Amino acid sequence: MGSEDVEFLHSGLLSQIKKWGTKWSLWPVHLVTACCGVELAHAYACGYDAERIGSLNYGICRQTNLIIVEGAITRKMAKVLRITWEQMPNPKFVIVMGACGLKGGLFWNSYHMVRPSEVVPVDYFVPGCPPTPEALIRAIVQLQDKIITGEAKNSAEFKEVDLGKLLGVVKEAKPKKPPKSPKKVEPKPEIVIDKAKEVEWEFGQKLVEELQRELVGLFDSITITDVNRICIRVKPDKLLSVASTLADRFDHVKSVNVIDVPHENKFIVEYVLSSYSIKELMPVLINLATEIPRNDPKVPSLAGIFPSADYMEREMHELFGVWFEGNPWMGRNFLLSPDTPKCPLRKDFKLEEDKYVLEG
Ligand code: SF4
Repeated sequence: MGSEDVEFLHSGLLSQIKKWGTKWSLWPVHLVTACCGVELAHAYACGYDAERIGSLNYGICRQTNLIIVEGAITRKMAKVLRITWEQMPNPKFVIVMGACGLKGGLFWNSYHMVRPSEVVPVDYFVPGCPPTPEALIRAIVQLQDKIITGEAKNSAEFKEVDLGKLLGVVKEAKPKKPPKSPKKVEPKPEIVIDKAKEVEWEFGQKLVEELQRELVGLFDSITITDVNRICIRVKPDKLLSVASTLADRFDHVKSVNVIDVPHENKFIVEYVLSSYSIKELMPVLINLATEIPRNDPKVPSLAGIFPSADYMEREMHELFGVWFEGNPWMGRNFLLSPDTPKCPLRKDFKLEEDKYVLEG
């Protein structure tokens, strides 16, 4: 087909048929990005049945013409969104649903958020957290109108109402204020991870005595913090020895956490150990904690003893910059998109904030 034929298709007699066909064949590609996806599923399920307006979710992006961005888009997902959009044939459309897709929503000003409108051209935004299925269907219907008329309209017309007059209250209009940054860092938070509690736990008392005998000379403190909860504090150079001693009963790591304590220039690194092999130990969680300096955050990796620690050590490395010595993934990108700012979960990490300008 020559360019004249294509032009004829767009503006000639056939264009109406083409528009009509497009209007009733809006096929969104499956691209569930966040929890708004549940509402999309609702809109397409039997209750609302979006298929009755010609919209049908489709699995292969090359045969689709609509992307419904379902809420939050992270840096990594932004790339996927763009690649998907580029693979779709023209004409193609984008609807963004959810507060996260508009301005970040509850993840506003977070290190990993990207606005979909910076990645692809957006035809309609559907506000809400999450928007209702009705709102999404209304956006699809509005998009259909836009396809036929070529014009975008508000999906709802609102009448301006003077509430003061309506309620019989006349109030002076308050000047608008820009929203404040949600980032507030407590200067000296109290970090307590091994506070002893008066708990009645006979099995725990015996277990602590046993551990004290076994780990003599290796620990700083062993404390019952609650029923089924024991905290063992150790120096970083004793971490491996303590972990190997515990490993025959507490055979896996449930989680690895880092607590940032900037005012004391330290990180608390904690491994939560548990048992799959000994029945009476199964409910017990051992919090194995150590402190390392914040300006040289190195700690021995326990991934060699507990394979389940590997993945979480990598996460903590990227989010806090803690170096787990012996873990081969240190220094490599694993979880975050390569363009993510370094160590985004450190307390002193701050993004450049949105600037608000007041008019009038
Ligand atoms: S707008 Fe609300 S429901 Fe939608 S992705 Fe964001 S948090 Fe989830």
